[in-house]
Amino acid sequence: MSVAMFSLKGRVAIVTGGSRGIGRGCAETLADQGATVVLTYVRGEAAALEAVKSIESRGGQAKAVQADVAISSEMDALVETTVKEFGHLDVLVANAGIAIDGLLLRLKDDDLDALVGTNLRGSLASARAAVKPMMRARYGRIIFISSVVGEMGNAGQTAYAATKAAIIGAAKCIAREYASRNVTVNVVAPGFIDTDMTTHMSDAAKTSLLAGIPLGRTGQSAEVAAAVAFLASTEASYITGQVLRINGGLYM
Ligand code: NAD
Repeated sequence: MSVAMFSLKGRVAIVTGGSRGIGRGCAETLADQGATVVLTYVRGEAAALEAVKSIESRGGQAKAVQADVAISSEMDALVETTVKEFGHLDVLVANAGIAIDGLLLRLKDDDLDALVGTNLRGSLASARAAVKPMMRARYGRIIFISSVVGEMGNAGQTAYAATKAAIIGAAKCIAREYASRNVTVNVVAPGFIDTDMTTHMSDAAKTSLLAGIPLGRTGQSAEVAAAVAFLASTEASYITGQVLRINGGLYM
């Protein structure tokens, strides 16, 4: 059992797409700090159950739920059942996302729709569902996972970056709308993190990428998760509408 950085004891958190990668890192770190974590997945039930097992083996509490962020009714049901089962919802980590790369001239409408449906509409649908019980409780922490490319751009990622930039604008609006209810809303913008999403990159692409990162390496999910856990904590009470960049200095 690791030592708590910021206590999340008694808190209930939902992490969308928590079965692997950055989401799994967030689920594990939040659970290590004492939160009960509901992690969602679409496919890959085995990975989700594995993540739950790993959290439980460290003395934490977690549950895996199949729920597609692109289907709003599934987000509403997820929040309802979480509140029914655990009594309240304190933290949402809107992490689920997909990456489809391609130059603008080759952009397919279907790919754009898929990116918007999952990354943007999915993040907002999960936040819309989560903010209801948070408002009533007058306490909440919403953390959106954006991306460095949403702020700095990257050739070949127009559609993906557009969804990630949109999340930042949306988060600032939501932060303003619910501040009076003590719901804080922040964005974590990871740089290049070692996950399934980045393993497909060619060696040449990786080499040129590393040259632009002052810390000279890619990041780990746990390094993103540490920032998320901080923003999810009671101690982060005066931080809202901010973008916290976890990118090794790639974009400052
Ligand atoms: P990943 O592909 O390893 O994990 C993505 C997760 O999202 C998976 O658990 C997957 O099941 C889930 N997911 C996908 N579509 C979903 C849907 N419709 N409903 C519910 N869950 C769904 O990727 P990752 O690298 O861990 O990415 C996590 C988040 O971080 C994404 O939003 C991604 O855009 C963002 N991000 C990643 C990097 C990186 O370098 N890996 C950098 C910046 C931002």
